[in-house]
Amino acid sequence: MCFSGVTILVMCKNYKKFLEIFQQDIDAMFAHQKDYICCKEGCAYCCEYGEYPFTETEFLYLMDGYEKLDEQIKKIVQKNISEIKKDEKGYYKCPFLINKKCSVYDNRGLVCRTFGLLNQEPDGKVNGPFCGKLGLNYSKVYDKETKQLLMNVIEENHYKNLPRVFNLNISNIRKLNLVKELEIDFGEQKSLLEWLANYAK
Ligand code: SF4
Ligand code: SF4
Repeated sequence: MCFSGVTILVMCKNYKKFLEIFQQDIDAMFAHQKDYICCKEGCAYCCEYGEYPFTETEFLYLMDGYEKLDEQIKKIVQKNISEIKKDEKGYYKCPFLINKKCSVYDNRGLVCRTFGLLNQEPDGKVNGPFCGKLGLNYSKVYDKETKQLLMNVIEENHYKNLPRVFNLNISNIRKLNLVKELEIDFGEQKSLLEWLANYAK
């Protein structure tokens, strides 16, 4: 795959507009759930082990951010990509993570922006962020053994809002009115590594 700068610019233009609006919704979701959220700078477990599904548009936008990086940083990312390709495991550390920081933060994908909330899968199953098992998001109100919310803890602590499940799968995001209004075609979805395997400048 080889995209020219012009192609990337055209494909990303409306997506950027979409992100400016949708990010406000995501911020509101995190604010609503703030009693259960532990995300902070320097915490990057969610970027250290995953598949990172990206649609084509998201991937192009990510690479637009990559192309603007300093040459030194690009070299580190390239080295990380080579290491991952050698490994051939399904799960890996995101190659854009450098010193526990996202090197392409402003261009990160939707999965990066929404990870950490309770999410409902297309089959109806509720998915909690895996970092709950590390004592992070939702861990204080979720019993790992019984897989139930600890309602007594929520009541005792007078948390303002109850834990809420969001519908943040890309299949649902694609159906948003905003996506239709901005005529965004997200394209196919693959893991980040699959996209990177075919990416050439
Ligand atoms: S989602 Fe979990 S692992 Fe990721 S930054 Fe938030 S607390 Fe840390
Ligand atoms: S693109 Fe950035 S935020 Fe997304 S997984 Fe990679 S390092 Fe994390």
